[in-house]
Amino acid sequence: MPLTYSAICKGCWQQMHMPVPLRGALSAPFRAFGIRPSRMNPNICTICEMFFERAMKARTVTLNATVLFADLRAYTRLSQSKSAAEMAGVLDIFYDQCADAIWQHDGLLNKTIGDAVMAIFNFPIRHPDHVRRAVLAAREMQRSFEPRRAEFGVGIGIHTGELSFGEFGHSHRDLTAIGTVVNTAARIQSAAEPGQILVTEAVYQQARADLGDSTARDHHLKGFDEPLALYRA
Ligand SMILES: [Zn+2]
Repeated sequence: MPLTYSAICKGCWQQMHMPVPLRGALSAPFRAFGIRPSRMNPNICTICEMFFERAMKARTVTLNATVLFADLRAYTRLSQSKSAAEMAGVLDIFYDQCADAIWQHDGLLNKTIGDAVMAIFNFPIRHPDHVRRAVLAAREMQRSFEPRRAEFGVGIGIHTGELSFGEFGHSHRDLTAIGTVVNTAARIQSAAEPGQILVTEAVYQQARADLGDSTARDHHLKGFDEPLALYRA
């Protein structure tokens, strides 16, 4: 499904009721000042990205948000039978389809890590139903990968809670949310089979209307002493 981009920045509009044009003739003077669509979400602007950066540097800031990790599974196996150029093409399709699904639900494509993507929902565009939006984005991703099922599978993990922000690396800045919620979401993703979406109890409780009746299964995740109950979404 082609994505329709917003004419004004959704973040600035929501937080300040300020219409910041992102595209079209009206955006030209803004672009002259470096205000353009963010690479993390084309419906927010670089000012909003700066807020993200500031929030991240103020280590005391916490935020209720949902974190989604999606990982391309067959990548290593595929790389043995395909050329480098073909592999780059596979990765591009994976990133593009992830980004479309994330942006459709107003999430932020925070970063790509090798053959995985990390998305945050509820920042900077706020939505009371951010948990549900993450689940719907995950389903949209799995649907979009379905025709390529024979080629590769994608495992997805979602967790929600309070995020803190932090800075990685000294030489180059890496804007990202850190903390238990992020680590847990990453671990859950690694437990998901190709084609699967696994979510925590907290996600299940808040997106129950969309998840229906699902029973939890205990998973022993690397780095966790206690097994974690996970639901399939
Ligand atoms: Zn903005």
